[in-house]
Amino acid sequence: MKTHPGIKENTFETLKKNLIYLAERKTALNINTPELTLVMVVIDRNMEDLMNFAEFAVEIGADNVEYIHLRYKYNSDLLEIAPAKDHFPMIKNELLKAKSLLNSKGLNNNIDIFLSQLLENHNITEIYKKISCYVGWLYVYVQANGTVYPCCHSYVPLGDINKTSMEQIWNSTAYQKFRKQALAINRSKGFVDGCNCAECQNYLANMRVHKMLHPLNALYKNLKL
Ligand code: SF4
Repeated sequence: MKTHPGIKENTFETLKKNLIYLAERKTALNINTPELTLVMVVIDRNMEDLMNFAEFAVEIGADNVEYIHLRYKYNSDLLEIAPAKDHFPMIKNELLKAKSLLNSKGLNNNIDIFLSQLLENHNITEIYKKISCYVGWLYVYVQANGTVYPCCHSYVPLGDINKTSMEQIWNSTAYQKFRKQALAINRSKGFVDGCNCAECQNYLANMRVHKMLHPLNALYKNLKL
């Protein structure tokens, strides 16, 4: 097991112990929340660990597993660690094994969607013809320099916490406009102004919220995680 150089070696074991404890407490109390989602950004350097990641998720009692694509569109430095096309067959094989394990243990996962994006260039905005985007209430992306974006695919900042309080930014007209547009994404052209929705990686969170808000709507029965 390799650990990031900035992290103490036993941090991983402590984290694992705590996550197992969380799963045990949920079982003991017979509750399903808080849900635990493990997210792995797939790059060339970790593609041999795709199955290990699924096994780890099972071991610690996670609820959901997400594999996500590297976002290098706005940072070409990341291109060198993006998976090479030659490696796509191997990634597919590993992920199909991971999917089989996760499904057999009842863990939600996005492997089908991940693979269709990787191999077939599947347009994720198809999902947003059926559901809304709720990210404006779920999430905020604050960069190290204080710039605030409503979503990690936004390229238009909505404020700067060095100049304005987070509360003011969160309640600002611009943020409200973003929420309104994102909520109506399924009735619009499929994009929210200032966001690269075609590369959205937040669709799983949005699908979960949509299912919670529309539990009886048959339309969404096909939206498997
Ligand atoms: S990329 Fe678009 S659809 Fe995805 S979370 Fe951001 S605003 Fe919503």
